[in-house]
Amino acid sequence: MIRLSGLLARHSGLHRVFLANSGAEANEGAIKLARKWGAKHRDGAYEIITMDHGFHGRTLATMAASGKPQWEQLYAPKVAGFVKVPLNDLDAVAAAITSKTVAVMLEPIQGEAGVFEATTPFLRGLRELTRERGLLLILDEIQTGIGRTGRLFGFEHAAITPDIMTLAKGLGGGVPLAALVAHRDVCCFEYGDQGGTFCGNPLMAAAGCAVIEEVTKPGFLARVVQAGDHLANRLSALSHKHGLGEVRGLGLLLALDLRQDIATEVVDLARARGLLINGPRPDSLRFMPALTVTNDEIDRMIEILDGVLSVNGANP
Ligand code: PLP
Repeated sequence: MIRLSGLLARHSGLHRVFLANSGAEANEGAIKLARKWGAKHRDGAYEIITMDHGFHGRTLATMAASGKPQWEQLYAPKVAGFVKVPLNDLDAVAAAITSKTVAVMLEPIQGEAGVFEATTPFLRGLRELTRERGLLLILDEIQTGIGRTGRLFGFEHAAITPDIMTLAKGLGGGVPLAALVAHRDVCCFEYGDQGGTFCGNPLMAAAGCAVIEEVTKPGFLARVVQAGDHLANRLSALSHKHGLGEVRGLGLLLALDLRQDIATEVVDLARARGLLINGPRPDSLRFMPALTVTNDEIDRMIEILDGVLSVNGANP
């Protein structure tokens, strides 16, 4: 636990780490930390500004923090204290700040929404705005972190550092492991404020150490960038061939716009041919292969997808 925390702190530029079991749990911790910080330093401010279509997990608070329209009415009453604004609209964030606001929370790339990037000017603008107004910036790097975008953390593309970051998914390389990582100046948790039976257990922490050590080896992330470029190029060619839309995303977190609501059929047909992909929107496919994927494997995947799209009649 100490070794993994040290690795995360060293590579992120942050200082305090709490290990958890799932992304939602790490985000709950981030929300609790922000609220405690607001109680201590901002006169009880507790509201967190989050993004429309954002996704932060399936617990009650993280569902309320998420901006999924389908969740609006579910499991009422909702956890209060989350104010939604459109992604990449800095003026909307500024206009939403009140004396009750304590933080802004978002994903560097909205994964579940369909792979939509927070732009670099938006992230930099948010960093400046939150500093100016004395608010915390919380980045949910659960999907983007640990090399997925070609950098260890998604925020590196914008050359900013958040006050609080959450990690999960790739951190465990397949085992249940998550982390809440915070700057020392904002980490006001005291012993017992956050905890759980399996939090920081040595088996998962050892897996996390192995993942970080592997992903930070010289050349590993450069290879992710190359594989991402290869996948993006192959997807663009496929899109051109079948008259589809844009390829968006970074590194090995990409989406292909199908221009029609055929994602479910394409996903099912692909699965029948041995290819696992998903459709985060009715009109988009998302691609998140293992970071160790080879160009040959990408080519095989494109071949299967090409066959599926031809059968599906996406070709106008
Ligand atoms: N935040 C983001 C950005 C995610 O993509 C996810 C998972 O899909 C979560 C939070 C929730 O993580 P978990 O499923 O580990 O609770």
